[in-house]
Amino acid sequence: MISKGVKEEISMVKKKVQTKKKVQPKKKAQMKKRIHKEKEKQIKFIGQVIKIRQTEPATVIEWPRSITHVHTYGMLSPFFKGLREGRLMAARCPNEKCPENRLWIPPRAHCPDCHTEMVWETLPNPVIGRIYTFTEVVYAGTGIELSTPYWQVDVEIPGLATIPKSYLLYGKPHIGMKVKAEFRTKNPTNTVLDYYWVPYELL
Ligand SMILES: [Zn+2]
Repeated sequence: MISKGVKEEISMVKKKVQTKKKVQPKKKAQMKKRIHKEKEKQIKFIGQVIKIRQTEPATVIEWPRSITHVHTYGMLSPFFKGLREGRLMAARCPNEKCPENRLWIPPRAHCPDCHTEMVWETLPNPVIGRIYTFTEVVYAGTGIELSTPYWQVDVEIPGLATIPKSYLLYGKPHIGMKVKAEFRTKNPTNTVLDYYWVPYELL
């Protein structure tokens, strides 16, 4: 037998359950909406997907990285400024007692023979030299920003103690070939690539 009071209680509980059942979907919808809003602000991966090179015996990935190397030309800065402005500049030892008084390209800040600070001289244009030796570069390796294949040429320049290495912009080299220095004054690379040689005689 169930007393009247108990019956009332049961009916109240039933009502409560019914009320709960009616409220729940609304709350659920609100919660869903809130989660959706939060999800819109979620952390995203903004990098590039890494390529897997191998998985066995261990996973090896290709992780490209680039760095900016801040490099100073220091006391050799005038050489690079000269290239940008279409001038080939060389360094000379001013010490009269020095056994080497010829010009140096690539330039030296100090004389390799007597350690005196070098002085600058501009080679008058046109700078004409002769190919001392040459080689064809098919694979340049990392860091050489020239299209391959190219002709690397060592050029004898009158008055120089050195035989600087550069490249022939076009044409086919031969030993003794007369070449003229030219400069990348338009869009310079600000590197030694800003001067190169072109044939000075008919090919
Ligand atoms: Zn010297």
